[in-house]
Amino acid sequence: MNIQSNTFSLATAGILSTFLMVNSALAEFSDEQLQQAVDEAYEEFKDDDSGKNADYIPILTEVPSDLFGVVIATRDGKLFVAGDIDYRFSIQSVSKPFTAALIMQQQSPDAVKENIGVEPTGMPFNSKVALALYEQRSVNPMVNAGAIAAVSLVEASDEEERWDLILKNMEGFAGGELEILDEVFESEYSSSASNRGIANLLLNDGRLYADPEESLRVYTMQCSLGVNTRDLAIMGATLANGGENPVTGDRVLAEEHVPELLAIMATAGFYDESGEWMYSAGLPAKTGVGGGIVAVVPGEFAIAAFSPRLNEAGNSIRAMQAISHISGKLGVGVFGANPN
Ligand code: GLN
Repeated sequence: MNIQSNTFSLATAGILSTFLMVNSALAEFSDEQLQQAVDEAYEEFKDDDSGKNADYIPILTEVPSDLFGVVIATRDGKLFVAGDIDYRFSIQSVSKPFTAALIMQQQSPDAVKENIGVEPTGMPFNSKVALALYEQRSVNPMVNAGAIAAVSLVEASDEEERWDLILKNMEGFAGGELEILDEVFESEYSSSASNRGIANLLLNDGRLYADPEESLRVYTMQCSLGVNTRDLAIMGATLANGGENPVTGDRVLAEEHVPELLAIMATAGFYDESGEWMYSAGLPAKTGVGGGIVAVVPGEFAIAAFSPRLNEAGNSIRAMQAISHISGKLGVGVFGANPN
């Protein structure tokens, strides 16, 4: 009897400790491990000079192409950094999920689904074909059409209030003040015939909810906001922390809406490269033509990276490589560890 009960308790202890080990291996990383992962990703890819700066927004060709920064921000606000993490660049499309979050918060996730859509297009971020094909159910807030629609959907009485709500929301995620990079705004707004076309197509389909020029202008202001890699990491860490900014302690998104937002990032954050991204990195993330990317390990941390040289889909080559590497190295892909 004694022997039996001893065997039983030893076995139970064994199972329990195995369980705890597995759990802690998944959930807990030492500061050294996180810093090492960041350093390693930076070193491994810093010399890759493939791709080129975005040039359809003329001023973006002037951003020094060699800049490269990598940051992990944890859900409790710790930062692990390497490279050019203080350089301010335009947030561009990395802003898109945060305005989608504002609509979820101000209205509801259904408002996003019904008025914009949540279906990946499998097409480039500026596609008009996608709009024609998906006239009824529209697109998603991660591509230009859905993001311009999102800006128009924000409930505001005039343009000033629309911008103010969007800016305050973005600052809430970043945990500090953000400013428009004026030169980027001028350059983009004076060459935005394509986005103006998209705004008018949306209007024609009954999928734009404010004046088209106002929507285009505020969308362009949103894309011209200056951020550094650290800001992006904190914005992502706010999502990793269930919608509460780990630095300021302010709640910017209800915890229950975070999974819906991450789902759109996972399926459409890289436009027509979203499948390949999930296949290799396994993390919900968002890219921008300014060279920034932020990825979220739900409940854990965010990984942000910045490098201006892009591939054909408009995604930053070294930022993708660095984040995929860290995801694989730490084994944090949402479907299990991806190879690194
Ligand atoms: N502001 C850019 C545009 O509208 C954003 C595109 C991007 O970052 N992919 O084209």
